[in-house]
Amino acid sequence: MKLRELQNTIRRLEHKYRRPPESVRLLAVSKTHPATRIAATAAAGQRDFGENYLQEALAKINALNDPRLVWHFIGPVQSNKTRPIAQHFSWVHSLDRGKIAARLNRHRQMTTLPPLNVLIQVNLGGERSKSGIAPDALMEFASQFHQWPCLRLRGLMSLPRPYTDFDAQRLQHRTLKQLFDTLIEDGYKLDTLSMGTSADMEAAIAEGTTLLRIGTALFGSRDHAGDESNTG
Ligand SMILES: *Cc1c(COP(=O)(O)O)cnc(C)c1O
Repeated sequence: MKLRELQNTIRRLEHKYRRPPESVRLLAVSKTHPATRIAATAAAGQRDFGENYLQEALAKINALNDPRLVWHFIGPVQSNKTRPIAQHFSWVHSLDRGKIAARLNRHRQMTTLPPLNVLIQVNLGGERSKSGIAPDALMEFASQFHQWPCLRLRGLMSLPRPYTDFDAQRLQHRTLKQLFDTLIEDGYKLDTLSMGTSADMEAAIAEGTTLLRIGTALFGSRDHAGDESNTG
């Protein structure tokens, strides 16, 4: 899909579900796709890009060397990778452990960059294979962020089970939105709910996402990564 077409779809769904215009932003998930595709998408106006694999991301960040681009790390954070992540990204979506938060904070402190924007990843389905904090441990984790002044807690992220049923998708997203609202009621200044991918973007918009993480619907299948046919 072209960027323009995807933006139009998002605007149409915002209207359908009575979301304020432009309240849903797009994070272009560019993992496995080459820097040339990112450059073309950036030329069409996209600024936020998401990557999962550090080495691949650093190669592309360096190759593009474009200060307008905003890089989001959305994959699991290994503790020996916190320094380059703190140095090269503006956002981390996948924070789920205090040990990693402390390391990212320390490494961010060594830079001249503003605080790193972070989202707590929540494991809604209780799937042991997936990263993310259990919902019942979320409040306790959120309460620790005052210790980490170089991290700015902006909200929550989840990677839900891949249900194809629309109502099942909505139910999962609603659970994350409720956790988000509870934190806000408790006084946290949060503005970012990172939920919804290519397969469940409509359900996510219906339930209050503010940041869609879209790969396949924008860049095509990752099996054909490197194919330049449907750029931008
Ligand atoms: C790959 C990935 C996406 C994008 O998924 P698509 O189905 O390609 O839209 C979103 N979020 C995370 C965490 C991912 O790893």
